[in-house]
Amino acid sequence: MGDSSCIAAPSTNRAKVHGNSILFRLQGKVAIVTGGASGIGESTTHLFWKNGAKVVIADVQDELGQAISDKLGENVCYIHCDVSNEEEVINLVDTTVANFGHLDIMFNNAGIVDRPFGSILDTTKSDLERVLRVNVIGSFLGAKHAARVMVPERRGCILFTASACASIAGLASHSYVVSKHGVVGLSKNLAAELGQYGVRVNCISPSGLVTGLSLSAGQGATPEQIEAGLHELGNLKGKFLRVEDVAKAVLYLASDDGGYVSGHNLVLDGGISVVNPSILKAVGLIQ
Ligand code: NAD
Repeated sequence: MGDSSCIAAPSTNRAKVHGNSILFRLQGKVAIVTGGASGIGESTTHLFWKNGAKVVIADVQDELGQAISDKLGENVCYIHCDVSNEEEVINLVDTTVANFGHLDIMFNNAGIVDRPFGSILDTTKSDLERVLRVNVIGSFLGAKHAARVMVPERRGCILFTASACASIAGLASHSYVVSKHGVVGLSKNLAAELGQYGVRVNCISPSGLVTGLSLSAGQGATPEQIEAGLHELGNLKGKFLRVEDVAKAVLYLASDDGGYVSGHNLVLDGGISVVNPSILKAVGLIQ
């Protein structure tokens, strides 16, 4: 079980470690990253930390989360939190504020997938409920309790990981697609409500990339096979989407660089959602 008492060290210590103030785009900020123990969340935790933030990793993979916290040391801690459990989300937010003084960035990133694809005839009610519980209810609870502490401060940034499957049909299972449409809708509706309090709300929507989640849905395919398949299907050639690319986009939205961006769904898909390859082939622009 992870420690829920994080102790913040003065950020100036880290300035000496990195020695380059240009890196510190989140200096003095406090962030929670759900699903921070692996994949996109882990990469974002590293990038936020490098940029001067104090980061709370929230996950259910206690050993992985604690190991990242131990490795990064000061100003990163791990708190066990199942995002679908409201009591645990309340504890996450309240412990963060108690230890670090406030909460600036809530990155609702934890997510699961039920299966790669499949007919609705094979999809069970419990498949749908399991995915919605984490992806939608977990995001809702994270946003709700972040807003609870951000609204009185009249500032803050709430982020979600949705997916390119909210822009292009047929990319994933019905349960997963429903959940990610829900996340995009929630994000936009929250942006409408919370703008009056100075709280920005945005989504990031990557297309496929190699992580624990895509490997679990990959039916035994290796990371190399998954990446090669995604590259083959993609529009942008010679480039692979990696967790670091997603983290950089999250950093943009979380930092003052994205200070007037709210209600946005930043799609990281190399252009596939605006391209119909059949038409390009028909007019001879691609083979
Ligand atoms: P990942 O499996 O590496 O990371 C997901 C993390 O969420 C894991 O650490 C897992 O333990 C955690 N998690 C799962 N259920 C949880 C719960 N109930 N409470 C707390 N934590 C929980 O996969 P990833 O690809 O980095 O996933 C991050 C997000 O990115 C997810 O929302 C996913 O839907 C989204 N996404 C992934 C892809 C992709 O191709 N990998 C594409 C688009 C969007």
